[in-house]
Amino acid sequence: MTPDLDLSQCQYLFTDVDDTLTTGGQLLPETFAALWQLHHQGVRIIPITGGCAGWCDQIIRTWPVDAVIGESGGFYIHRDAERRLQWQFWESREQHHIDKTSILATLKQLELGFDIHLARDQPFRLVDVAIDYNQDQRLSADQVERITQHLMKQTDFRIKQSSIHINIWRGDFSKGAMAERLLRNHYHLSDEQMRQRVVFVGDAPNDESMFERFPKSVGVANIRPHLPKMTHQPHSITQAVSGHGVVELINHWLTQRSNARD
Ligand SMILES: [Mg+2]
Repeated sequence: MTPDLDLSQCQYLFTDVDDTLTTGGQLLPETFAALWQLHHQGVRIIPITGGCAGWCDQIIRTWPVDAVIGESGGFYIHRDAERRLQWQFWESREQHHIDKTSILATLKQLELGFDIHLARDQPFRLVDVAIDYNQDQRLSADQVERITQHLMKQTDFRIKQSSIHINIWRGDFSKGAMAERLLRNHYHLSDEQMRQRVVFVGDAPNDESMFERFPKSVGVANIRPHLPKMTHQPHSITQAVSGHGVVELINHWLTQRSNARD
């Protein structure tokens, strides 16, 4: 972490989930405890993930979070004044279903010379389609590149690679665009307030739309191999990988908050 990253006045943490919060696929007790510590300090925590709708429903019900953005920005979930969950989609839910169905039909017709498998959580997705290349399946970098090249022929498809999936959707949303919409519509922040008060932490090229928008951004150490192919990079990088890196970030943040109060 670069010491010049001043988080003392920040009030929102957007965090990627896979390989940022999780370490080797698991949410470690020290990472979860650090989230609780930040939550008790009044910071609003908002996971922002390529993960599926079913996964996001579980996160907002059981973690110390204020909202969650899922499926690469296709929707967010928050609580209303009566603490009931409310879902906000980028387009209408019906439009997303039509788009998802057409992508699945296109994938069935791809001729790659090898098999591809949808992510196991595909039945719990409402907006996008995820191909598994590094979760339960293993595809080589060349195979991932071939899939991407084939899909790019569909000019209206958006394609992003996380550390485990290739996510595909139609529509002009992204993690960053939906984060801005949530901050503007739900928290009523101006553009300048977003730049000053929001911290983002991520680990992969599918986090670039967040690194682009939020100057107080951090990569966990395992982002380093991806940096050469990323246009928008984090301001600072932790020493530690994944969930250990998030703990490092939160400790840095809490120390700065307590120093600012003294
Ligand atoms: Mg990730």
